[in-house]
Amino acid sequence: MDFLIENESVATFLMGAIIISIFILPYIYSMRKKESRAKIRLAETRAKGQDKPLLQHPIINQSECIGCGICVDVCPEGDVLGLIDGKATVIHGSHCIGHGKCAENCPVGAIEIGLGDISERQDIPRISENFESNIPGIYITGELSGMALIRNAIEHGVKAIEHIHSKTKSSKNGKLDVIIVGAGPSGLAAALQSIERGLNYLLIDQSDTGGTILHYPRQKMTLIQAVNIPLFGHLKEGEYQKEVLLDYWETMIRDYKVNIHIKEKLIGITPLPNGFKISTSKNEYDAKYVILALGRRGTPRKLGVPGEDFPKVMYKLLDAETYKNQNILVVGGGDSAIEAAIGLAHQKGNNVTISYRKSNFFRLKSRNEKNIETAIVQKTINVVFDSTVKEITVDSVTVTTNEETQTIKNDFVFIFAGGELPFPLLDSIGIDFGVEIKTKTEEYV
Ligand SMILES: Cc1cc2nc3c(=O)[nH]c(=O)nc-3n(C[C@H](O)[C@H](O)[C@H](O)COP(=O)(O)OP(=O)(O)OC[C@H]3O[C@@H](n4cnc5c(N)ncnc54)[C@H](O)[C@@H]3O)c2cc1C
Repeated sequence: MDFLIENESVATFLMGAIIISIFILPYIYSMRKKESRAKIRLAETRAKGQDKPLLQHPIINQSECIGCGICVDVCPEGDVLGLIDGKATVIHGSHCIGHGKCAENCPVGAIEIGLGDISERQDIPRISENFESNIPGIYITGELSGMALIRNAIEHGVKAIEHIHSKTKSSKNGKLDVIIVGAGPSGLAAALQSIERGLNYLLIDQSDTGGTILHYPRQKMTLIQAVNIPLFGHLKEGEYQKEVLLDYWETMIRDYKVNIHIKEKLIGITPLPNGFKISTSKNEYDAKYVILALGRRGTPRKLGVPGEDFPKVMYKLLDAETYKNQNILVVGGGDSAIEAAIGLAHQKGNNVTISYRKSNFFRLKSRNEKNIETAIVQKTINVVFDSTVKEITVDSVTVTTNEETQTIKNDFVFIFAGGELPFPLLDSIGIDFGVEIKTKTEEYV
């Protein structure tokens, strides 16, 4: 009998050992590996200042997180979260655009999407729940308000117009009720809602219609949570190709005869007794209200050299494949410049030169750092460090360094010299940043 019991205990022990070695040890091993990868990524993103989120992001309640890793796996951007010490952690915050899939899928509800403490942020304007800024009559909607995503942008635009409509009757004398600046999703939704409400409006954009969507890579699949667009109806598919979305935008502008001026840039706003004077690159307007739906991409910085107005000069690369057998100059040394140069050098017959004003590349993503080093060694890209562009002509560019001036054959120039962010403009208008206004009365009493 004793012998049987002893045998049974040995068998149970062996079974336990087998289960542990087949299932549990590999699981622990793979979790440890994931964690150590997450720690390395966090150190890398910290070193480059990319760990901090820019806009809304997951805020994780560490005491409730059970470390299951579902949030890490469902993130559409792929690398925002990781597990560290068994807890979900924001690793690559600057990649987060606030889809919120992590919060939606967290089984214990340990994640919220928000802006966190914005009291010290000088890039998040103070706005009320109706999107009105500290200057009554000027509204800030869409991504400029600190919340990314197309659905948010559309909803903000609609709400701001609803608030304006509740305070004003449409002008009969032709005076503008509202001028809407920025024809991205937020500005366009505001324009459509103005039509719906019979307001006299004008929509302007320094560039073209579509906003940031125009700058997505070709055929990018865009995730959109269900949203209603005024006059047009529901966008309910969940996922749209960039080009399909832009087609919808064009259709809406044509079908509803949206009053829009493109290639017109807002320069400044000054208060008038009954509204505002709005100065643009082309005109001056009086309007009772203003909606700023400027996004956060800013305006590409120009070099200010002769020839920069030629159509062959561009500030973004959308489709490297369309450039073959060309002499191309890429100006700049950041990630966008390097990615464009690598993409262009990969196409058949292209001759790619980078002109960069510094003596070395720095703070590049590690992938770009490796790729450009290889391209320099293999001579697929020629880099002229410490150089500035002096002139662009129809078929050449002139680049100078301390030692020499070179004139290079050229068919296209891509300039990636950063952008003028919208914040100095907001500052000049008198918009306050930092502390969120919860309600209008709280702030204005
Ligand atoms: C690579 C990438 C991928 C993304 N993917 C998704 C996604 O899958 N799903 C999603 O929901 N969101 C996504 N987003 C975020 C989304 O694109 C933005 O949140 C949204 O476009 C914001 O809309 P908006 O109208 O506020 O601003 P924007 O779309 O940025 O439009 C602002 C407009 O204002 C104009 N403007 C700026 N300054 C001036 C001026 N001084 N005078 C006149 N006009 C001016 C600009 O030219 C621009 O057309 C992504 C963003 C990026 C960068």
